[in-house]
Amino acid sequence: MISIIDHIGIAVSNLEETLNFYTEILGLKVEKMENHNEQKVKVAFLPVGETELELLESTDPEGPITKFIKSKGEGIQHIAFRTGDIENTISYLKKRGIRLIDERPRIGAGGSKIIFLHPKYTYGVLVEFVERKEGL
Ligand code: ZN
Repeated sequence: MISIIDHIGIAVSNLEETLNFYTEILGLKVEKMENHNEQKVKVAFLPVGETELELLESTDPEGPITKFIKSKGEGIQHIAFRTGDIENTISYLKKRGIRLIDERPRIGAGGSKIIFLHPKYTYGVLVEFVERKEGL
């Protein structure tokens, strides 16, 4: 069901400042930057091998990333596993009594389909599943 860790989501207060560290010091490259108005975030993707770092800065004082940083501080916010078939993954998880935040996949970066699992069922880790538009 899971092929690889698709990306790791990291909540940051200041994207520009944080990017300095990841690009200038660690030498990573920004692949793309996007605004997700629905999720109230500005996002930068930095590939590390086949996995990516997803740096998330809130664009709204009521947004989920603002709330996350207020309660836990900056840092790892979620882990995203890649799946080849998100519909299959949804029914698999539901059958096993795992609650999802999204009943239907929403559209994520680059037209991918994404769902989040309820953290109550994942031992404190916010877990995302991603089906890439271009497949595996
Ligand atoms: Zn994500």
